[in-house]
Amino acid sequence: MIKIQMDNGFAIVDTLKTVFGFDTFRPNQEQIIKGILNKQDVFAVMPTGGGKSLCYQLPAKIMRGAAVVISPLISLMKDQVDAARTNGIAAAYMNSSLNDQEVSDLYRMLKGNKIELLYIAPERFAMPNFLDILKDIPISLFAIDEAHCISEWGHDFRPDYLSLSVIPKMFPNAPIAAFTATATFKVQEDICRKIGLRKPFVVRASFNRPNLFYQVERKSSGESQILEFLRAHPDESGIIYRTTRDSVMETALFLTSNGISAIPYHAGLPPEVRNKNQDAFNRDEAAVIVATIAFGMGIDKSNVRFVIHADLPKNIEAYYQETGRAGRDGEPARCLLFFSRGDIPKIRYFIDQITNDAERSLSLEKLNQVIRFASHNVCRRRQLLGYFGEVYPADNCGNCDICLGAVERFDITRDAQIMMSAMSRTGQRFGIGHIIDIVIGADTKRIRALEHDKIKTYGSGKDKDKNHWQFIIDELLAQDAIKQEGNPYPVLKLTQKGSNILYGKEQIAAIKREETKERGRAKRDGFEEYDQALFEKLRMLRKRIADDEGVPPFVVFSDKTVHEMCRYYPAALPDMRRISGVGNVKLERYGDAFVQEIMRYLSENPGIPIPDAAPHGRDHAHTGSHGEEKTGETVEETYRLLQKGLSMDAIARQRSLTSSTIAGHIEKLIQSGRDIDIDRLVEPAKRREIEELFFTLKQWSLKPVVEAGNGRITYEEARLVRACLFRDRGKNHDATD
Ligand code: ADP
Ligand code: MG
Ligand code: ZN
Repeated sequence: MIKIQMDNGFAIVDTLKTVFGFDTFRPNQEQIIKGILNKQDVFAVMPTGGGKSLCYQLPAKIMRGAAVVISPLISLMKDQVDAARTNGIAAAYMNSSLNDQEVSDLYRMLKGNKIELLYIAPERFAMPNFLDILKDIPISLFAIDEAHCISEWGHDFRPDYLSLSVIPKMFPNAPIAAFTATATFKVQEDICRKIGLRKPFVVRASFNRPNLFYQVERKSSGESQILEFLRAHPDESGIIYRTTRDSVMETALFLTSNGISAIPYHAGLPPEVRNKNQDAFNRDEAAVIVATIAFGMGIDKSNVRFVIHADLPKNIEAYYQETGRAGRDGEPARCLLFFSRGDIPKIRYFIDQITNDAERSLSLEKLNQVIRFASHNVCRRRQLLGYFGEVYPADNCGNCDICLGAVERFDITRDAQIMMSAMSRTGQRFGIGHIIDIVIGADTKRIRALEHDKIKTYGSGKDKDKNHWQFIIDELLAQDAIKQEGNPYPVLKLTQKGSNILYGKEQIAAIKREETKERGRAKRDGFEEYDQALFEKLRMLRKRIADDEGVPPFVVFSDKTVHEMCRYYPAALPDMRRISGVGNVKLERYGDAFVQEIMRYLSENPGIPIPDAAPHGRDHAHTGSHGEEKTGETVEETYRLLQKGLSMDAIARQRSLTSSTIAGHIEKLIQSGRDIDIDRLVEPAKRREIEELFFTLKQWSLKPVVEAGNGRITYEEARLVRACLFRDRGKNHDATD
């Protein structure tokens, strides 16, 4: 386990402020950094915008020698190096764009220990003389970015990554830290094994992106709806995704002719045009980029304020990744999906062309998941996280259209019973289409052949149309009253909850939301206001400086940093230093220019009330809006009491919280890699029994396990054992090969 050396503690907090300008760590950063400083290997899954770069850049600054960062995209390296340099880190990159002279100059600097951070493309590791040279260079650590590229199971396999397995053999003393934003457990194990990580400290952060606002709008006029959105958000930077190249060009043209600075991006454009357009977007010259999914990896732009899907995305995972490009800086950003059932047949058509049965039904299931996501009245965040196997703890996320919308609950128990009775009377052996046909009393060949027109439920729902019954099915699926099973023709089955409803032991309600235009613009409380007029001025200043230095504006200061200036009006250097994101080097370089601009603004606009000073420890956007900061503290308190040897119940009593809340805290602690002795909380024999149950039941829900325990297993116990199983699955890989 990691040993935390106290002398590191001060150095890292100090470096965080003086180099990066931040007062607090994002979740998991501190533990990862301490692990690296203690020369432990690390494997971390953290969402986009989670702050992975800082996890290796900060140790790079502290440790002796160069930190070698392997990163797949040459196009990104320059920006990454520029960003590190503006913070005063001695950074460089080595890839095929350098000539021989530049390479040998770079080697000389590396040998002289003049470089702190070196970005390298993976293919270098397959070149034999490169490794020889590398051996002569003092190296502090290896960081492998986008580590999922090493796994064939991942979504972006790159064979070049396989040669990275030489690193642990050739550099036994340098810690290796692997990072990715997406990895299932299977991919995680594969990555750790392929690189050869040595008992890594494993982090799986939550996929939740609290600053993203998710919204689905009914698509009617398409392009004019987009235009309306853009007009309501002038000068904001954003991505509009469309499915085909033609539609990309059409939308870009439509927007340009309506006075929006929009540029297209798709794989059919010549590489020069693509690069030029991506660059213009990065540099805030074009506000909007209209793109196919070809526009993806390689966007490190932190101030993307919205991502619009003008068409239905292919699957939830793609949707999560594409929307994930918004709001990396942690400031509020919007994800808007325009959904029309009319888009479904087009996608169905392509799926129907797939000849492999298993593959086709998988694609179909994925399509259905997206449709459910868009059409269900269930919190969008809960649905997205659920897809990644994460349970969102709060009832109301406070930052999606469902949770903010005006909603009305209405009972659908009777219709649900009709539907499920049709399923039950036909032996739960039929799919959605056929069950609906029975309920509405359709006269089809299949119904006659199976004599389903003879069953009692036949036609009992004929007073309502197909759409209504489809809606009922969707709701029942969403609320786990029924489930789909089987390939390639999934049939509907009742769950325990479903049969409770069917036999009148439980009620079921659906939610109808009011379709108001304003709903999407509802103010999201928790996110702070800032002075928009000043922001405009500072944004222009930032753009001028960025152009002078040949870097993208967000490299100078992130939107988050500039927003904070527009709240606290730092009109002197000491005040400027307190702004999040202003480290020593940036303060020296840009501080004056921004202070001058703010002073000018204040003198032109007398009477602006100025808050005392920026508070300390203020990563608001990340922690403020959903009480996460508070949760963080209370989790720590639970940890403290655990360390004192208290039992779960005792902690719950002492803190006037429920045991299940405390179990939730402990789960979080285990997930974040804290060393918790659960033998004290769940006795070993019972723990083994619970583990067995998870494996034999082949699923990760708590309920079936608790039920199978016949009253001997509590939810709390099952929760803790599950958390340990997840943790240990991440660690076991080195024992299994
Ligand atoms: P990732 O690679 O995980 O997608 P990045 O490393 O690009 O994320 O970081 C995203 C943004 O978050 C950057 O603008 C970075 O400066 C900012 N950031 C990272 N760590 C912190 C922190 N501790 N406090 C505030 N902002 C942070
Ligand atoms: Mg990154
Ligand atoms: Zn929600």
